[in-house]
Amino acid sequence: MAPTPEILAAFETAKGFMPVDEGLALYAAAEEAGRLGLPLVEVGTYCGRSTILLAGAARAAGGVVVTVDHHRGSEEQQPGWEYHDASLVDDAPGVGRMDTLPTFRRTLYRAGLEEHVVAVVGRSPQVARVWGRPVGLVFIDGGHTDEHASADYEGWAPHVAPGGLLVIHDVFPDPADGGQAPYRVYRRAVESGAFTEVSVTRSLRVLRRTGLGI
Ligand code: SAH
Ligand code: MG
Repeated sequence: MAPTPEILAAFETAKGFMPVDEGLALYAAAEEAGRLGLPLVEVGTYCGRSTILLAGAARAAGGVVVTVDHHRGSEEQQPGWEYHDASLVDDAPGVGRMDTLPTFRRTLYRAGLEEHVVAVVGRSPQVARVWGRPVGLVFIDGGHTDEHASADYEGWAPHVAPGGLLVIHDVFPDPADGGQAPYRVYRRAVESGAFTEVSVTRSLRVLRRTGLGI
């Protein structure tokens, strides 16, 4: 249904890239998928903004969300690029790289949701390769190049259980609105015959597994 007022407030104040309307759609999907009694998986934690919603839904279902990120930022978040946030750089000697893990941990702690989240620090395809069980929902919100978006789809979509949900963010059919990689992955999922569209909330697409394969 809807997140609790506390979850909503924590989500709204968290740093990140998930607008409220799309976040509410993500929460509704996660709440529904949570009823399958399987873990929820997020690819692209960043500072935990969307993770809060998934964790709230996991808590309601008595389950967990596993959120995966190398925490070094996507291409467009690197210094000099459009979505760079200089406050997220680890400026310790010899490092000088993006590190969103400390901010994520603070956000999750303050939201009181640590118990409902398993954070995996690593590259999505490598984590997917060692993952060995069905999941109720996969939320793809990681790297936006074709290489990364396809690898996220190929690595994680096979794990979506029958009746489970595949949610893809930043799907822009019109190239004027944004990069096309998530859109191409969305098309591929629908054209595979394995997934059927359930809802569209601006750039957030919710698909259900109604067939086999990917
Ligand atoms: N879901 C977040 C936004 C995610 S931004 C929110 O609601 O605000 C995308 C994230 O994907 C970045 O933190 C980046 O580090 C991560 N990422 C990009 N490519 C990745 C990969 N191949 N493996 C793991 N994480 C990746
Ligand atoms: Mg996104």
